[in-house]
This record gives sequence, structure tokens and C-alpha cells, in this order.
Amino acid sequence: MTKIRFQNTRTRRKDAFSPIDPSDVRMYVCGPTVYDRAHLGNARPVVVFDVLFRLLRHVYGADHVTYVRNFTDVDDKINTRAAETGRPIRDITDETIQWYLDDMGALGALTPTHMPRATEYIPQMIAMIETLIERGHAYEAEGHVLFDVTSDGNYGSLARRSLDDMKAGARVEVAPYKRDPMDFVLWKPSTGDQPGWDSPWGHGRPGWHIECSAMAFDLLGESFDIHGGGNDLTFPHHENECAQSRCAHPEGGFANVWLHNEMLQVEGRKMSKSLGNFFTVRDLLDQGIPGEVIRFVFLGTHYSKPMDWTARKAVDAEATLRKWRKMTDGVAAGNVAPAVLDALGDDLNTPGAMAELHRLAAGGNAADLKASAGLLGILDETLGEWAAAPDAGDAVAARIEELLAARTQARSDRDFARADALRDGFAAAGVVVKDTPEGPVWDLGPKFDLSKLEGL
Ligand code: AMP
Ligand code: ZN
Repeated sequence: MTKIRFQNTRTRRKDAFSPIDPSDVRMYVCGPTVYDRAHLGNARPVVVFDVLFRLLRHVYGADHVTYVRNFTDVDDKINTRAAETGRPIRDITDETIQWYLDDMGALGALTPTHMPRATEYIPQMIAMIETLIERGHAYEAEGHVLFDVTSDGNYGSLARRSLDDMKAGARVEVAPYKRDPMDFVLWKPSTGDQPGWDSPWGHGRPGWHIECSAMAFDLLGESFDIHGGGNDLTFPHHENECAQSRCAHPEGGFANVWLHNEMLQVEGRKMSKSLGNFFTVRDLLDQGIPGEVIRFVFLGTHYSKPMDWTARKAVDAEATLRKWRKMTDGVAAGNVAPAVLDALGDDLNTPGAMAELHRLAAGGNAADLKASAGLLGILDETLGEWAAAPDAGDAVAARIEELLAARTQARSDRDFARADALRDGFAAAGVVVKDTPEGPVWDLGPKFDLSKLEGL
């Protein structure tokens, strides 16, 4: 059997993986808060844990893996969106969930075994909160229920922070009803239009962290194998999930292995609305960048490293995929190359696995290339329609060359207005042009936008 090892956030070591029950390998991944389209960064954990899901299914059998990814459909950001738009919360969350499934499907992500919505697990959350109160780990104060962090001797063990460090470093909400500033909310009161449910502590709604603990317990039990998510969630979200679950169910260990993906950035900078480099998966798909190309780019960086999305990488990935698709078209899948499996088994080394695919392609081994790529979710029949269309990469290059020739012509005609319009057009479209003694050379810059080349 393929050996699998993971860099476990909990132990800070690369541990050999041995599932609690090989006939039911269980994994939980924190899903999105559903009030808006998923941005490209949100897609990273989806692809990372999809590759892991595929690897586990390959190794333990497709029917022997349970993958849970939740939808957070109760959250103050959703309430704000509802207030801004005047739309019912359920309309917003239903629509956003469908967008999410469509967009992640376009990236070739398999559907998890269970996709629980937080609002469908309120009774389980209330039950877990009651258990925490009974066991002395939580207390009620002014309509709130708070988790008492000092009651958990292991609090901070996942993120490896002491309570004193947390207090020094964190911007915690200081509220008069908290016994300790690090105590966090399990339940809070709802008023007016806020969504709420009746509970032993009055009409209210859950805090964020309790939903994952309650859904994981309900669907996977008190101990399961793998818990994943972005590393921005390690503290406080995962620390708090851990605390709640261990204290409510001390007979279990919650998750054995914790895996955290690093963040995605764009052209070397943090993706943010203020930098103007923020975009959704749908934006890229609508620009004509196939989901398979996005996936291919993602696979090129190890999940534990920051990943840089660049327009250049997308163009290169598209060219490679076209070549590989031509090569494997009509070829029956052979075997998954052992080196590809070894790479994935070694802490999900996708860049290593991709290097092996390049070797298989270079060696002309189309059958094994197809099988091995399939394990990574690429060269899949269902994702292939885009490749039948004309080559967008070539078309873009041809259009840029054509416009550069027009600019050279305009200059020699001394039509400076036309030359300047073309220069401004390139700048607006994010095409970086350099004039060299051998003539102009160009590259796609960080904000490349094909549509801005239209009408030039
Ligand atoms: P959210 O909806 O903000 O709770 O995020 C959903 C998932 O996306 C979480 O697992 C986050 O860790 C992950 N995530 C958010 N931003 C990024 C990013 N820039 N790069 C990678 N993952 C991200
Ligand atoms: Zn969670």
C-alpha cells in the first residue's frame, strides 16, 4: 500500500498516516461563508483537499473515504448583505452555495460526501453547548454563552500559543460579560431582524466555531483522521474547534492530523480589493481561462507554500495542457506512475507529481500520463471541452503582435495620436511593452485583461 505522510500542524512533524478505520477514512474541511462569489484564494483549499480526497480514494478505495465540507450560512457578514440588499438571507445563501458548487465544479473538484449547512445543525450545536456547560467548560452571561478557556488545560496546543501570548498579541473583543478576554462566544442573543433560534439561553444564534465541532461530531464522530483548512484559520477558529470538541467529548481526540494550506497571492502581492488585484474564480472563467488551467497552476505550488497566481503561469499552463490533451486524446488510460503516487504520498507534493507528469509527457508515455494526471484531476474527459476551442493563448499573442505592428506603422506615419492610443491601450490591458534595439517585446502584466484590447 502507498505510504502516506503528512506535515501535521498538531505535532509539527511529518507523521506517517494511519487511519483510525481504513474502511472509513474521515476528513473535515472548513468551507466558505456564503454571502458572495468565491475569490481565487478561496479556491486554493478546495483544490488542495480535492487532491487529497482523490489520493485517499485511490489508496483506500472510493467507497472508504468520507469527506465533509460545510457551508457557513449563519454569519454577521450574511446579515449585513441581507440588510444592504433587502433580500431574504435564505435567497442569498442558496444562490451563493449554487455559485460555489458551479465554480468549484469548473475547477474539477469532486463533490464531498457531505456538505452540511450550519443552519441545519442548530439542535446539535445547542446540545454540544449544553454538554460544555454541564462539564464546566462554558458559562452563561447576559444572554451569551461563552467558552471558558482557562477550563481547558490544552487550550493553545494546536496553534502553540500560551494564553498570555494570545492576550498580548490578539485584538480580542473585551466584553464585560467575559470572565477572561480570550473566552469566546458559543451562543449570542438575536434581536430584530437577526436570524435566531430558541434555546435554553433565549432567542439567539451560534458563534462561528461551534458549528464545525457540532457538524464534525455528528457526521464523523468524536475522533476522525484529518482536519483541513487555510492557515489563516489555525487560530482562533481551529484552536477553538479543538477546545470545544475535546472538552465536550473527552473520550475522543477530535482530529488526528491537521493540514493547513498557505495563502494565495497575485503577482507577488496579497490579494486585496484596495490593491485592485482581487478577483473571483468566476471572473477568470468569464475571461476565458478554463477551470482546468486554474487547477493546473495551483498544482504547481506545494500547499504549504504561499502560492503566486500570475497571468503568465496561466498562459503557460494552457499551452502545456493543450499539448498533453492532444497527446492523450483517444488513448486509454494506463497506470498511475509509482513516482506520482510517491510524490502525493509525501505530504501531498503536487509540484513533484507535476514534474513526473512532465517526464511522462517527454517520454511519450501517453497512457500513463493520462492515468496519472487523472489522479490529480486533470486531463479529465469532463473538463476537456475548452481544448476543442481555438487556442486563446495563441489568439492573444496574435492580437498583441498585430497591435504592436500597428503602433510601429503609426509611428513611421507620424500618426502620434494613434501610437499614443495604442500605448495607452496596452497599459490599460496590462500588457507590458518594452522597446529594444531588436524591436518591441511584450509580456502579460499582473492586471492583464483581454477585454481591454478589444476595440483598439
Ligand atoms: P472564508 O469564506 O473567508 O471563511 O474562507 C474559506 C476558505 O478559504 C478558508 O479555508 C480560508 O482559509 C481560505 N482562504 C481565504 N483566503 C485565502 C487565500 N488568499 N489563499 C488561500 N486560501 C484562502
Ligand atoms: Zn471550521
